[in-house]
Amino acid sequence: MAKFDVDLFVIGGGSGGVRAARIAAGYGAKVMVAEEYRMGGTCVIRGCVPKKLFVLGSHVRHEIADAAGFGWTIPEVTFDWPTLVANKDKEIARLEGIYAANVEKSGARIAKTRAVLEDAHTLRLMTGEKVTAKYILIATGGAPNHGREIPGIEHVISSNEAFHLTELPKRIVIQGGGYIALEFAGIFAGFGSDVTVVYRGDNVLRGFDEDVRKHVRAEMEKQGITIITGCTIEKVDRHGNEFTTHLSSGSSIASEKVMFAIGRHPNVANLGLEKAGVAINPANGGIAVDEWSKTSVDNIYAIGDVTHRLNLTPVAIREGHAFADTVFGKRPDQVDHATIPTAVFSQPEVGTVGLTEAQARAQVSHVDIYKADFRPIKATMSGRDTRVLMKLVVDGTTDRVLGCHIVGDTAAEIIQAVAIAVKMKATKADFDATIALHPTAAEELVTMRTPTARYVRQAAE
Ligand code: FAD
Ligand code: NDP
Repeated sequence: MAKFDVDLFVIGGGSGGVRAARIAAGYGAKVMVAEEYRMGGTCVIRGCVPKKLFVLGSHVRHEIADAAGFGWTIPEVTFDWPTLVANKDKEIARLEGIYAANVEKSGARIAKTRAVLEDAHTLRLMTGEKVTAKYILIATGGAPNHGREIPGIEHVISSNEAFHLTELPKRIVIQGGGYIALEFAGIFAGFGSDVTVVYRGDNVLRGFDEDVRKHVRAEMEKQGITIITGCTIEKVDRHGNEFTTHLSSGSSIASEKVMFAIGRHPNVANLGLEKAGVAINPANGGIAVDEWSKTSVDNIYAIGDVTHRLNLTPVAIREGHAFADTVFGKRPDQVDHATIPTAVFSQPEVGTVGLTEAQARAQVSHVDIYKADFRPIKATMSGRDTRVLMKLVVDGTTDRVLGCHIVGDTAAEIIQAVAIAVKMKATKADFDATIALHPTAAEELVTMRTPTARYVRQAAE
């Protein structure tokens, strides 16, 4: 008789868990996946996918506004929020079904319940069932932070609820200056809400290239989004269906909704980690793992947002795949977390890969900057007041392109392809040798010939 009920028990049916389960089952392992909410996890159910659908929907406003310059007369348009939400829900349910079907097709079994650790080899399901496993993969993801307990915090929504509002708020206040805050600011503004972003620092998107931060903020403000910096929300008062948000600056804002997008925390609570001896990384609160995604316990691994490394879907998927290859496929694989492209689906989008100018200047002695800030061709006819930013950060000694940063429509699509070149360690000469594709915005990346700035760090005496 087998020593364990299953070879692999995966806790969490999100991006990373599903990939690991399918690949491990493909290698012949007996696999079980527990999911307490909906198969597909954050990305499919209340993250990347519904967010992108909302972004696409709200962007239609810009298309309509731009049409007149091209000769179109568009009769007065109307927008119906419940239709959007219902159609989005239908699509998400379809994807959820596909995720579940694919797991089952792979031979893995799904348990639609919460699972927690009893010890290093035993899981307890909320159905009462106990399952023993040779290996356990923790892929429980993360959840929105709400910050400290300010008065009125119970009135505040997170991105989870933003996907299910029964009506579009006329006015919304969003606290945060990261991915979710900027993406939802663009979404709500596009659909017609009056949006105020409240951010505690001096400018949004901390950690991104300084030029990107300035550019995206300016573009969002041009669209009428109010961005208040150097400020936090201290209190939210409710008056019927309206809220008054009190800021640390002393001023206040009235709105129908208040949303916080102030980061996410790994789902580690009440998982039984201590019973199994799984350690937490004190630096970030996620599960501590080594470069193989192995935890402090030999047969227990953790991947994706619960490890709080880089909280992106393709990273969770790659980590899940590498785990399954390593443990069940006899193909040891470590994930390279360097030079991962990322996009903020704000409007306009941000696409970025590699080092920022500040990081490059701290790391290498000679840095050349190539920067183009221009009016896109579409704006010449539409009359829209908008500009695109393209920036290359180059190692002046080796000529290697260390970073690429774009703000503009389709920046995410462009950066995915540029990331291949940057990952391959392409040089500026390689970019220059590539013939431009005209007329595009991306052609700027291969036509910028003269550095706009050159930094040489003096050797220490
Ligand atoms: P998850 O997808 O969160 O899956 C974890 C699963 O585990 C969940 O389904 C949860 O219900 C389940 N679970 C938790 N505990 C238990 C338990 N004890 N028992 C059973 N089940 C359990 N990333 C991008 O790359 N691009 C984007 O555009 C993007 N947009 C985003 C937009 C929003 C609004 C948010 C919130 C996130 C976005 N992300 C995006 C991040 C992305 O969603 C996550 O990085 C990704 O989903 C992480 O995958 P995961 O497998 O680690 O966890
Ligand atoms: P982010 O980490 O991107 O941004 C959090 C923001 O909230 C920052 O501006 C931060 O400020 C601010 N903040 C943090 N704590 C507080 C506080 N206590 N009070 C006030 N402000 C605070 O997190 P998000 O919630 O936007 O998204 C979570 C993660 O999900 C992202 O980091 C990303 O990994 C992933 N994601 C990816 C997306 C994509 O790929 N397009 C889209 C959405 C999410 P400060 O900068 O000063 O710390």
